[in-house]
This record gives sequence, C-alpha cells and structure tokens, in this order.
Amino acid sequence: MIPLCIPEIRGNEWKYIKDCLDTNWVSSVGAYVNKFEDDFQKYMNSKKAVVTMNGTTALELALRTLGIGIGDEVIVSSLTFISPVNTIKYVGAEPVFVDVCRDTWVMDADKIEEIITPKTKAILPVHIYGHPADMDKIMQIAKKYNLYVIEDATESLGSLYKGKAAGTIGHIGCYSFNGNKLITTGAGGMLVTDDEKLGEKAKYLSTQTKTVLENGGFYHEEIGYNFRMPNLLAAMGCAQLENVEEYIKIKRENAKLYNSLLKDERGITLPSEKEDVRNVYWLYSILVESDYHFTRDQLIFKLKENGIQARPFFMAVHEMPPYRQCRCGDMNITNELALKGINLPSSLGLREDDIETICKIIKQQ
Ligand SMILES: *Cc1c(COP(=O)(O)O)cnc(C)c1O
Repeated sequence: MIPLCIPEIRGNEWKYIKDCLDTNWVSSVGAYVNKFEDDFQKYMNSKKAVVTMNGTTALELALRTLGIGIGDEVIVSSLTFISPVNTIKYVGAEPVFVDVCRDTWVMDADKIEEIITPKTKAILPVHIYGHPADMDKIMQIAKKYNLYVIEDATESLGSLYKGKAAGTIGHIGCYSFNGNKLITTGAGGMLVTDDEKLGEKAKYLSTQTKTVLENGGFYHEEIGYNFRMPNLLAAMGCAQLENVEEYIKIKRENAKLYNSLLKDERGITLPSEKEDVRNVYWLYSILVESDYHFTRDQLIFKLKENGIQARPFFMAVHEMPPYRQCRCGDMNITNELALKGINLPSSLGLREDDIETICKIIKQQ
C-alpha cells in the first residue's frame, strides 16, 4: 500500500518531547512554545508568529484579530479544503467565492474586482497543493479597495513567491501542522504577521485575553479564546522545522521525477510552477483531461486496486449544502478542475521505484 501523504519523523522529535516529559512542562506554556514561535518567525522572515491548536483556529484567529464579523464579506476560493470557508462563517461573516486559474489552481486575481461590494472586508487566497496565488495582483486590489488579505498557506508552507515565503505577503498568513502537512505536530497551526500590533492582538486573543495583575490575579478586558498549543506539540514542531528545507528538497525531487515520467502522456496535465515561484508540491497533483484513456474516477479506482492511494481534487465548496446560497463569481474553472484533478502519493518517504510504479499504472492502457 502506498499512502497519499504520511508524516516523516527523522529528527529530534523524541528528544525534545522527552525533555517536556522529563521536566513536567507538558501544557500550554513552556520553552518550546516560545522557541517554536521564534524559530518559525525567523524561518518565514516575518515579524511575529503565534502558535495555535490547528490551522483552522489560526484562520479563525486571523479573522477575529482583523475584526471581521457580522455584515462583512470575505472573498475566498471555492477549490479548497473547506476549513477557511467555515472560519468565515464562525465569525459571522459571509464567504463570496471567486474562481481559480486553469494552470496554478489557485485564486484568479483577475476575477476579484468584479465581485467586490461595499461589504467586502478581506480577500482570503488559499495556496492549494503547494503553489501560491498571484500575490502582487491581490495586494494591489486590496490596497485599491482598502481590504485585508489573509493567506491560507497551510498547503504551501515553504513555497516562495518572488523570494518571499507564502503566507508572509498579506496582512496575516496561516499554516497547519496536521499529520498530512509538510511538517507536523500531530495537530497544530501558526499565524504570522509583519504588523507587530496585529501579532500581539492575535496572541492576546488566543490566550483568553489574560492580563496577569500584580497580585497574580487574572483580568480580561474582552472575550478571548483558548487557541493555544501545548509545549509537548511545540517541541515536536521545533524538531520538524529543523528539517523543513530538506523536506522541501525531497518534495521537489519527487515532483521532478513524476513530471519526467508523465510529461508525454496524452490527456495528463502536469502541475505548473510560475516564474518567480517555488512550488513545494505538497501534494503532487495532475489533471486527467477528456482525451486520457480512462475517466478521472476510473484512474483513481485503478490505482486503488494496485494498492495506491490517490484522491480527487477538492469538491467545490460552493456546491456544499451550507454554501449553496452564497454569492459567487463565474465558477467555470473551479467546476472543471474539481472534476479533473487527482492528488498522487506525496509522502516524504516515497521511494523512486514507488513513483515509477505509480506512473507505469497511469500509462497502462
Ligand atoms: C489543512 C488545511 C487547513 C487547516 O487544517 P487543520 O486541520 O485545522 O490544521 C486549512 N486550509 C487548508 C486549505 C488545508 O489544507
């Protein structure tokens, strides 16, 4: 069985977690919590990082930190894991869906302006499968209409856009350390920002807005949240982050091998990497076009019969019952890609001959 994407534990994970256990610092304060935030912020070249329970809470925290709520609209992609869209609802705002690009599969910046209204408060691009959206264009539009930009970089940790890390270009960026992500803490998330005031507010909101008084008492000026990550998991995060560039190298090498084996296959469209972008190919993905010798789902079942786990692209969120009434732009590309895309096995432990086996099955008539 070749799984889609499983974690890689090969560094100081045991050592740092044992240290937490040995010293009794297991809960939500501790040296590894601070170290993970510091290390992450440095790696991203960002001003402030705030660690959270998971990627979803990082996104919710981003919206709350920016004061987005009832009556506001947030423009978001529909070809995404549902989490960022749900968080827009959690804060009482409304998602408005925008289409994606045919080649990069991420938010189409050229289709944003036509769906902006006076209620629009933010744009939330989701950098799926490892490729960042066109952030220059998105930031230009945001500036013109005075909107916030929240980047969902959960699937593009380590991707670069014009030399900048995905997630550090908008006002706030969010990451996830779920088990299938590039680096993992089992469950976890991170928020980064270059605006120190926003960073402090995010930390404050995520830690129950707790102010400790001189006598040790707790004072709370407003309603806060417990979005904290325990020291035990932060310890794992510190260890994982030490290997992140090595992991990215492996993902890119795997993608290169997949690309070279599949490039001449009729009906298969390969993933793209725009100029000035480093795609981390978090999930190596292809499109199954109509002139391929099987349908997309037939290929998924054929891979499954051969012990290979593949997954169709995200179903469009605007087609899901809670979101069918939401405002949308033209969704042609989203609808098309949702039917054509496949994620192929992308674990860091994938072997060369695994990739050869997978590609051989894809080429079989
Ligand atoms: C994984 C993921 C998240 C958040 O994940 P958590 O499981 O909450 O850590 C958010 N958005 C996208 C696009 C994701 O893939």
